[in-house]
Amino acid sequence: MNECVHVSALPRPEPEPLSETCPECLAAGSHPVQLRLCLTCGHVGCCDSSPFQHATAHSKETGHPVMRSFEPGESWRWCFVDGSIV
Ligand SMILES: [Zn+2]
Ligand SMILES: [Zn+2]
Ligand SMILES: [Zn+2]
Repeated sequence: MNECVHVSALPRPEPEPLSETCPECLAAGSHPVQLRLCLTCGHVGCCDSSPFQHATAHSKETGHPVMRSFEPGESWRWCFVDGSIV
């Protein structure tokens, strides 16, 4: 496992998801491929295989470093700062 200072700085317990799906996609009438949950604020955004990549856009806008998969049965986390699974 990589040492990731961002994971250790995350709020615990993790934030409640703010929505069931990507709200930006919903507003744009687009369909997310997969969903990601921001572990700083609970924002739900779509993955990089989705047309708008709102999870990445959220991290860039807010500086929130770590998201995890919001797909059933998946729990891996991604750190945008380190650029790796953490
Ligand atoms: Zn990190
Ligand atoms: Zn989206
Ligand atoms: Zn966030």
